[in-house]
Parts: sequence; C-alpha cells; structure tokens
Amino acid sequence: MTAQKIPMLDLKRNYARIRQEITDAVTEVLESQAFILGPEVSAFEDDCSAYLDGARAIGCASGTDALVLALMALDVGPGDEVITTPYSFFATVSCITRLGAVPVFADVDPVTYNIDLQQVLSRLTPKTKAVLPVHLFGQMAPMEEIADELERRGVAIVEDAAQAFGSWRKIRGDIVRAGTFGAVGCYSFFPTKNLGGYGDGGMLATNDDRLADRLRKLRVHGAGTTYFHDEVGLNSRLDSLQAAILRVRLRHLEEWNEERRVIADRYRLLFAERDLLDLVHPPVELDGNYHIYHQYAPRVQDRDALEAFLEAEGIGCRVYYPLSLHRQKCFAFLGYGAGDCPVSEQLSRETLALPIFPELTADEQIRIADAIARFYRNK
Ligand SMILES: *Cc1c(COP(=O)(O)O)cnc(C)c1O
Repeated sequence: MTAQKIPMLDLKRNYARIRQEITDAVTEVLESQAFILGPEVSAFEDDCSAYLDGARAIGCASGTDALVLALMALDVGPGDEVITTPYSFFATVSCITRLGAVPVFADVDPVTYNIDLQQVLSRLTPKTKAVLPVHLFGQMAPMEEIADELERRGVAIVEDAAQAFGSWRKIRGDIVRAGTFGAVGCYSFFPTKNLGGYGDGGMLATNDDRLADRLRKLRVHGAGTTYFHDEVGLNSRLDSLQAAILRVRLRHLEEWNEERRVIADRYRLLFAERDLLDLVHPPVELDGNYHIYHQYAPRVQDRDALEAFLEAEGIGCRVYYPLSLHRQKCFAFLGYGAGDCPVSEQLSRETLALPIFPELTADEQIRIADAIARFYRNK
C-alpha cells in the first residue's frame, strides 16, 4: 500500500470543521436574495473594522482590485513612481503599470524576504508617490523604521496585506495590524489565503475618512449617489455570499493562525532533530512580529531536485516565486535585467514552500521531515 499523499493545501479539511455554519450563512443570503454589497457586506465590513482596531473597512472584488483602488484613491497615475518589491505575486506590480505609473524595484531582505527599507530610501525621487511593501508570506515589514522619512517627503505607504490578514507587529509598544499602518491596506480573500472566501473577494482598510469615502465611490464606478458619477471608478463590489462565508471564517481566523504557528514551530524542531538546519533554513520571525505563516518557505539546498523528490514521494510543495517581477516579460520595458535585484533572484532559486494549513497533522509533518532527511542523506 502506498502512503496517502500530503497536499500542499487541503481546503476540504477546513470546510469539514465549519460545514453547518457555512450552510446556515449561505442559506440566509439565498433567502434574502440580496447578492451585491447589501447588509451582509456591511456587516462583514463592520466585523473587519472591529478586528482591525477601528480602521474603516471597504469590501471589493479582489485583492488585485484593492491594490488598484488604493493607488487610484491616492491619485497615482502617469509620471508617478511607486517603489515596490520584485519578490511577490504579480498583482503587486501590475496595479502600478495598469494606472500608467512606473514601478521602481527595491530588492528584498535576505532574512525576511520583505522589501529592503534602506533600498527604498535610496530610490526615492521627487516623482515617488507611494511605497508599496508586501507583508510576504504573512509577516509584516517593519515600515515604521522609515515612515517618518516617507511622511516628510510626502510619500504614502500602501500595504499589500493580501497574505497577512491577522498578522501584526508591535510598534512602540502597541499592536499594529497588517494593513492598518500605512495610508491604505489591501487584503485578498482568494480561497487559499489565511482568510479566504469561496470565490474572489478583497478588502481595503484606512484610518482616513476622506480616503474611505473616495474608495467607497471608486468601487461602484465612482458614483457617490447611484447614476451620479463624480469620477470614473471600477466595478469592484464584494458579493453577499462571499461576505457571509467570510464572516463565518473570520470568527475562526485567530484559532487557525495559531495552529499555523504551531506547525511552523514543529517544522523547525523536526528539522533540528534531523540535523537539517544547514540545508533547510526555516523562516525567521522578526522581533515584535506575529507571523501568520500564509506560506512556510525555507531556503533549501538543491531546491529543484528536492522539489522533484518530494513530488515523487507524494508530498505537495511549491515554488513562490520562480521568476522575480522585475524579470517578467511584460515588464521588460522597464529596463531591469538579471542581477538588478540579486537577493530576490537568489530566493527564486532557493526557496521551497512546504505544506502549511491549520489541519496539517503532526504525523504528516514527520513524514515530510523524514522525506527531506532521506533526500539529503542519499544525494
Ligand atoms: C493574492 C495576492 C494578491 C492578489 O489578490 P487576488 O485576490 O488574487 O486578486 C496580491 N498581492 C499578493 C502578495 C497576493 O498574495
């Protein structure tokens, strides 16, 4: 008999834990026949606002749209520069070019994989309108270190918190949640995220009432009142079924994020017990950070061979991200080439994301660690 496969992510196990709650929530929306925005979306926005310590929360259709809307609300457009990271999902950069603005890449920190703050400062120009850090894999970038300088220069911070809903960082003694530090925070509810819906969805957060009002208009074609358009926005609404599902899942999020942290700790222990820490470098949690391990992506020796080996063993794993954004074909016109962001390029060659989801069992983790140990022993 062959062993059960270990998937990279198994959403079915999660659904089994909340099936009745989801059925009840969905049924209520179906009975109401209110599907777009409406009371369920408002209620979810209120829940998010409470969770995000009072920031205004504005639902939208996806994390990608949240990023575009955030930059639109800050009037980012042609001639403007936005400094961001090359080591992220595509949408982090496409939202900038979509508006005709220019992405300027700062390389990432080799320890946290988050944007290198000194490089951000060195890339500021009079054209810089915003800095767009990503709280990659669920860990916040310590933006407070350069926030005063950015404010002095009139540069806004837009946080890509698509992977970090529920993550936080202690800043001067206070807990600051991912997405509530800068001018606007952007979240994704893509099903695989820690707080995922059962379809597409996104959210914006801001502590600025004026920006919140503008974002509320921009998501409905720029209309303040239906059929009266102050500017041209997007059609980017969160739907009520997703909101109802997300309300259920938000109630469990802290528990699930805690479970992910236990899994991350256990991986480290299992690698240490097998004497693997010279070959597999576990993620590092910065002091003061609450990492929620959206991904668990150690740097590993001989990455491609290990990936193939694990796949052959029936163990899911994935490369995030195989090609840095500054090297994507569609961004060739920006003029970046190999070697321009060496840390990001190195991470693209060396990281391997291993299974991490709240329902992953200790036995499965032992099998994964054993397989990795076997790979290096037999090489
Ligand atoms: C998922 C993700 C997005 C995009 O979110 P969608 O909801 O899929 O549009 C943006 N940035 C990062 C870092 C992401 O991981």
